[in-house]
Amino acid sequence: MLSVVGTPPARLRAFLQSQGLRPQQARQAVHALTTAMWRDGHSWTPALEGLGRQARAAAEATLEAPAPLTVRQVACASDGTRKLLIELADGAVVESVVIPATDGDRTTLCVSSQVGCGRRCTFCETGRLGLLRNLSADEIAGQLLAARGVWEPVRGALPPIRNVVFMGMGEPLDNLDAVAAAAAVMADPIAGGLSWRRITVSTVGVAWKLPEFFAKVRANLAVSLNAPDDARRARWMPVNSRCDLASLKQALQTSLPPGRDVLVEYIVFDGQNDSDADAELLLAWLDGLPVRLNLIVANPGPDPQLRTPTMERVRALHARLLAAGIRAMVRHPHGREIGGACGQLAATVVG
Ligand code: SF4
Repeated sequence: MLSVVGTPPARLRAFLQSQGLRPQQARQAVHALTTAMWRDGHSWTPALEGLGRQARAAAEATLEAPAPLTVRQVACASDGTRKLLIELADGAVVESVVIPATDGDRTTLCVSSQVGCGRRCTFCETGRLGLLRNLSADEIAGQLLAARGVWEPVRGALPPIRNVVFMGMGEPLDNLDAVAAAAAVMADPIAGGLSWRRITVSTVGVAWKLPEFFAKVRANLAVSLNAPDDARRARWMPVNSRCDLASLKQALQTSLPPGRDVLVEYIVFDGQNDSDADAELLLAWLDGLPVRLNLIVANPGPDPQLRTPTMERVRALHARLLAAGIRAMVRHPHGREIGGACGQLAATVVG
């Protein structure tokens, strides 16, 4: 059985043909099912009603209904950010975050790829949960459907969701096949309808999977760096013990496809990684890589040592990076008071 929301339409067509439908029948059936669910917001049974008798019988016999995702709570922050608490069929809970852009140009959805996470970064609430399980492709792509269901009725003049970042709960490269399938569904014109340029997958540096990532996924890559040397990075991000900064840089240099760049994310922690000397170390690591860089103002998290920096330090770091020719931006926190900002997702109800 193939999942109808977690499988790219091209694969669904080929599969239905292998089940005995003629190419034209398979194409029409997949088009009808996919548009019914993604464009018209129908659930599985009404979507099936749009098919001819033979196509419907084949679809019922061989395709799986979408995994039920129940939005248990929508917490809304004063900046308009909405955190969705989503319950899955087995009772597991994940979070997705809808972030309206301050410039009004786009609305971004941050999706989860795992329930919990096994990478245990010390600044991250999700890391404290440990890895409970991987999400299926269906459960990942379904977050976009669920979020549109929440966002469309309330967005008013704000833009629809056209941007997806895999920066929620979980390490996407630890669940690569499901992430690849879900991203392909999101990017398909008759399903999610996003441009590949508007999908970004963020890793903490699971560098040994990068060649496989670039072979399977056409989305942008982001790497969460956060420390300018191995001692600090290993302390905050256990993945660094398996893949240090030099190995990460080398993996990026050898696996980035021609013409592609990488978004480097650097969370700024007060007095921990924001000195002038740290800026020089960071610049040395960036040297020779095609990068854009986001400085992320740290949010209050589980590690009391890693605190929110002063904006003066963030601005100084930003100015130094710009002066060195780095395309750097400061990313301000969204949804901090509802626990929806970077590093705060812990699958908890906001009271
Ligand atoms: S920052 Fe990402 S990889 Fe690290 S523990 Fe949190 S969810 Fe996992």
